[in-house]
Amino acid sequence: YELSEDDLSALNAEPEPLVEEALPTLAIIGRPNVGKSTLVNRIIGKRLAVVEDRPGVTRDRVNYPAEWAGRDFMLLDTGGWEKNVTGIDLSVAQAAEAAIDLADAIIFVVDATVGATATDEQVVRLLRKADKPVVLAANKVDGPQGELEAAALWNLGLGEPYPVSALHGRGTGDLLDAAMAALPAEMPEVEVVEGAPRRMALVGRPNVGKSQLLNKLAGENRVVVHDLAGTTRDPVDENVEIDGQPFVLVDTAGIRRRVHQTKGADFYASLRTQTAIERAEIALVLMDASVPLTEQDTRVISQVTEAGRAMVLVFNKWDLVGEDERFLLERSVDTDLVQLTWAPRVNLSALTGWHTNRLMPAVNLALSSWDQRISTGRLNSFLGELVAEHPHPVRSGKQPKILFGTQASTRPPRFVLFASGFLEPTYRRFIERRLRETFGFEGTPIQISVRVRE
Ligand code: GDP
Ligand code: GDP
Repeated sequence: YELSEDDLSALNAEPEPLVEEALPTLAIIGRPNVGKSTLVNRIIGKRLAVVEDRPGVTRDRVNYPAEWAGRDFMLLDTGGWEKNVTGIDLSVAQAAEAAIDLADAIIFVVDATVGATATDEQVVRLLRKADKPVVLAANKVDGPQGELEAAALWNLGLGEPYPVSALHGRGTGDLLDAAMAALPAEMPEVEVVEGAPRRMALVGRPNVGKSQLLNKLAGENRVVVHDLAGTTRDPVDENVEIDGQPFVLVDTAGIRRRVHQTKGADFYASLRTQTAIERAEIALVLMDASVPLTEQDTRVISQVTEAGRAMVLVFNKWDLVGEDERFLLERSVDTDLVQLTWAPRVNLSALTGWHTNRLMPAVNLALSSWDQRISTGRLNSFLGELVAEHPHPVRSGKQPKILFGTQASTRPPRFVLFASGFLEPTYRRFIERRLRETFGFEGTPIQISVRVRE
């Protein structure tokens, strides 16, 4: 049994919670058949997880938004990990270690009817080393007669075993209460509200045409979103509608108010740019196409990519570029921005309005890339093929292997690869290039981190 493309797109069509990366992660770990998936299903209400008895089924998603007692969190389901994910084998210990790495708290599930096995002991050692909060679930305690077997699991040294029946729901409330108490109290919030207008920043060095473009985009009907505390005449953000689509333009006050060339103005402008980028989901980086790129331009671009925001590169003042210069200009920009082939480029004139209609398609493309999630199943078949075709070069007799990968978050897309050895930078860049070729990601930086497993 294999998931078809339709199955995959149906699974991927599940609406993503927009504050996902800010939610704490609770991982459910344990060896096969202890009842992890049954527990996951109980927690998320059988909506998404697929319990499949047939062996070799690749479970497509592993990260589910969940809620208990008014608390939102992400539930990391490792149920499918040790099963076959396209040629990549993960031992119970490897799966557990990977999950422990990604989690803020852990529910360790043991089958109370079997008792602690050597594999369970192995996981306990990993848990001790990791020093993350653990709640011990003694599963398959379907009735009071099983309580004694559950109590025997005190021996694992992980504190109180919670006797539960994932199948019938017995005791799962107490277990989840304990798990909620184990989760960190607060996570840094990313201010993204479902259905709210996307937040956009117009950035670039002075005189590239930010005010001009702002006037073009915002038009006459602009609405002030909120006032900076104490300075009621200094509207910071504006609600605008561009091509019928609502946006919040971040820190338009900083654009409208001309920064005078006083001492420290550069520093102030750069700080203000940084803040605007951090408060936005997407940054339009404006450059003046009529003059060569400056170091200041590339610095703004780095600020955006380092902040992990979606990005569109806008070459303004195109009306000043002669017909015969255009081709050469494009080529020199290609050379200057060779590391940024992933960012959409729009040539326009804020003055005449030429090609300003090309802005929104680029913005929407970049935002959807920023939001994009590659399911664990797809990612691992991609990795499996890539590794089979282009294995990591052998170095001093060793060949690092990629064991498993998962997209840990979106906005921007962050990938975590678990490998048996250090992956060379060129090989990581190769993986990023292939990820982009295969899945798009135009307009968003992507982050890849590698965890090495001995
Ligand atoms: P996983 O491999 O850890 O994800 O385990 P599953 O959730 O697939 O469960 C393995 C088997 O144990 C299935 O046949 C479940 O129906 C069964 N099972 C899970 N939880 C319970 C429980 O609380 N009581 C009983 N009696 N059986 C359970
Ligand atoms: P800011 O400092 O980035 O906000 O830049 P401004 O919007 O104030 O523009 C700086 C100067 O460039 C002004 O004189 C604008 O009229 C001019 N300008 C802006 N956009 C264009 C354009 O598309 N074409 C031309 N020719 N001039 C422009």
